[in-house]
Amino acid sequence: MSRVLLISDLHLSGERPATSERFFRFLRDEAAGAQALYVLGDLFEYWIGDDDLGEAFNASIAGALRSFARDGVRLYVMHGNRDFLIGDRFCGAIGAELLPDPHLVDLFSTRTLLMHGDTLCTDDHDYQAWRRVARSSAWQRDFLSKSLPERRKAILELRERSKEVVAAKPAEIMDVNEAAVRDALRRHAAPRLIHGHTHRPGRHLLEVEGEPRERWVLPDWYGRGGYLALEQAGAQLIRF
Ligand code: MN
Repeated sequence: MSRVLLISDLHLSGERPATSERFFRFLRDEAAGAQALYVLGDLFEYWIGDDDLGEAFNASIAGALRSFARDGVRLYVMHGNRDFLIGDRFCGAIGAELLPDPHLVDLFSTRTLLMHGDTLCTDDHDYQAWRRVARSSAWQRDFLSKSLPERRKAILELRERSKEVVAAKPAEIMDVNEAAVRDALRRHAAPRLIHGHTHRPGRHLLEVEGEPRERWVLPDWYGRGGYLALEQAGAQLIRF
């Protein structure tokens, strides 16, 4: 039976080798033979540009994904808030298609809206302001014009600062805004939304315009990790 798997928020980094090992095992075992694998953002803890593809850790991840895609699984990648500088070169190297956020797709006859999830966290005004800056071509042009060591240093500093900011924020504003979820489902006329980012895995049922809808939140891999498996028979959230 054909299956479609979805993952996000792996936050892969050379600093957490056990997570990378789990990911390699996932590609070899659980994901082998699937029809497609969707990576809905934050595959990497950070990504400073496709010209860093030669770095040993990045090369090991890219190599694993390339051989996975070569085995016939269609591979799709969406930007997260950590790895939004992933570009065509990285995707070309691993044999993946880069998806826009949001992306609407028919999966087993259900219109399904795929998102990373950060755009739904509209109560976090500071983050949304930073997102507008970081996604602007001016900021990206300037950042990518720096040397790799300069970029790495800048990103590590940003990460340290964001850890402090996040720790000081109330938990509610780090979750999705209910109205933003409803608006996205309504606008795309989708009965199903799948996203990551909030690290609050689960399934939520709601009703929009009198129609039942469901929202699946993918697990992060800082914790146990896991994935969502879709089949004709239904969906299942699997935790490692
Ligand atoms: Mn994220």
